[in-house]
Amino acid sequence: MSEKVFAVAIDGPAGAGKSTIAKELSKKLGVIYVDTGAMYRAMALFLIRQGIKSSETEEISQKCEEADISISFENGQQVVTLNGENVNGLIRTEEVGNMASASSPNPDVRKKLVALQRKLASEKSVVMDGRDIGTVVLPNAKVKIYLTASSAVRAKRRYDELTAKGESCDIEKIEADIIERDHRDMTREISPLRQADDAVLVDTSDMSIAEVQERLLNICREKGCI
Ligand code: C5P
Repeated sequence: MSEKVFAVAIDGPAGAGKSTIAKELSKKLGVIYVDTGAMYRAMALFLIRQGIKSSETEEISQKCEEADISISFENGQQVVTLNGENVNGLIRTEEVGNMASASSPNPDVRKKLVALQRKLASEKSVVMDGRDIGTVVLPNAKVKIYLTASSAVRAKRRYDELTAKGESCDIEKIEADIIERDHRDMTREISPLRQADDAVLVDTSDMSIAEVQERLLNICREKGCI
């Protein structure tokens, strides 16, 4: 990373509000937002389309090489491209999220995507969110935040999001999926989700979005990003 660029790393479990918060924060800081979960989701979409099951480790290692995933920014918005196709609108389903969680422990998948993430952060200042940004991808990030909330609160947020879109869903099933995904992300051998020793813990269970924004902005101010 050159002296001029800086990184804000935001890690935490699914549904903690990372992307909403990170997006806003990046605007306030005037830097780009990199949603690394979207990259794992694009890879998952590729694997689903190849007819590969999450248990087929060898096939995942081999096939992931054929997925050309890139990130660009149009009017400040992240566009995720999979082999030349804009897949922004296709990666936010539960099916893709579950496959992303199941395929992300694969070392070949991680190697490929981590290299891409480091390249982006070496060229420009970023707010980057994910599971291993502060611990593995950008251990020298200027600011590290670990954003979390209870599984019940996270399930309720996801439920509200889906019902607002007119999708019918079962809140208990959503919470069970969240707990299962957290468990997988936290117990995997490679790059498990955990709070970096030097990350600031922010539990958003009882906080409004505005309150979380203010808290993060203050942390960035204290660290000299503004
Ligand atoms: O954050 P999001 O729910 O979009 O991420 C989808 C999945 O991608 C996560 O459950 C996690 O397994 C994986 N992921 C990861 N490392 C990251 C970002 C996401 O393993 N840095």
